[in-house]
Amino acid sequence: APLPRPRIIKPLSDQLISQIAAGEVVDRPSAVVKELLENALDAGATQITIRLEQGGVKRIAITDNGCGIPPEQLALALARHATSKIASLDDLENVGTLGFRGEALASIASVAQVTITSRTADGEHAWEISGSHESQPTPSSGPVGTTIDVRELYFNTPARRKFLKSDQTEFGHCSEAVRRIALSRPDVAFSLSHNGKTVDHWNAGGIDKRSLQIFGDEFAEVRLPLDEDSGELRLSGFVGLPTAARNRADSQYFYVNGRFVRDKLLTHAVRMAYQDVLHGDRFPSYVLWLDLDPAQVDVNVHPSKIEVRFRDGRAIHQFIFHAVSRALARTSATDGGSVPG
Ligand code: ADP
Ligand code: MG
Repeated sequence: APLPRPRIIKPLSDQLISQIAAGEVVDRPSAVVKELLENALDAGATQITIRLEQGGVKRIAITDNGCGIPPEQLALALARHATSKIASLDDLENVGTLGFRGEALASIASVAQVTITSRTADGEHAWEISGSHESQPTPSSGPVGTTIDVRELYFNTPARRKFLKSDQTEFGHCSEAVRRIALSRPDVAFSLSHNGKTVDHWNAGGIDKRSLQIFGDEFAEVRLPLDEDSGELRLSGFVGLPTAARNRADSQYFYVNGRFVRDKLLTHAVRMAYQDVLHGDRFPSYVLWLDLDPAQVDVNVHPSKIEVRFRDGRAIHQFIFHAVSRALARTSATDGGSVPG
């Protein structure tokens, strides 16, 4: 067969680059919710309101009382690869914020109609910007903090829109995204509404209270507290009694340096600790925080930042396995009443 004629190579437009990135960063409404919540927390918010319409597809509006964005920075907030959170590779190694890629807002703005309204503490009034980084901010009104209003998600990418499930299913994913974040930050108040109806309202407090707000008051009866510190690694939180295990892995929350992650190594270490007390088709409930030197973990593995990589995976696996095993053994010890202390 004849060779194809060489094709012409053309640089992609900014808009198209962001739309391609959007496929990875914001593949459904819940991913938008996650990105906006992370931004609100990075801005130091203590109160966050999430308003959704039609599963988030019609509208996602998130209001925070964080530090706000100065008017001269509003366009940059929507620009691709623009971030206030890191400036060098060194910063990336020790990233202390949830965001750092500088692509979420640009991606979202390329597949939805976005308006940012923001006011800083020393601003006389709020400013807003709509559309893209090429727009101009205009004076607006509102309290100190930021509202990001995302409407008509995927209006210009019908192929993506076709992949969405029912509003109720998309809403379920959004509310799960809120739960993940809310569990990681009990010191922040969250309020979630769907189609004008308040669904969740969690006051700020400690992790004790937040875990009950999220898992239900019954969790108090079945949770085993855990807090172990090796100097280098600290694991804290709660593991559920084996008798409270579920037939779905839907109550497993693992945080690494405050970031919700899904990681085979971590899940496996917990699983192993339950091995002798839990049937293979049951899933333990847990909320666990692993804290370690940020230089020991790479969070820049995937655009959604849900995967991480550890420098010393073996040591971490062992530490978690032993800590969870000990927590579980303590119950059988107290139940049997035979082991002192
Ligand atoms: P990243 O979070 O990776 O920096 P984003 O695209 O999510 O990238 O946000 C771009 C920038 O916009 C952030 O670095 C931050 O300076 C600003 N920003 C976004 N959301 C907020 C918010 N809710 N409050 C204050 N600043 C914000
Ligand atoms: Mg961000």
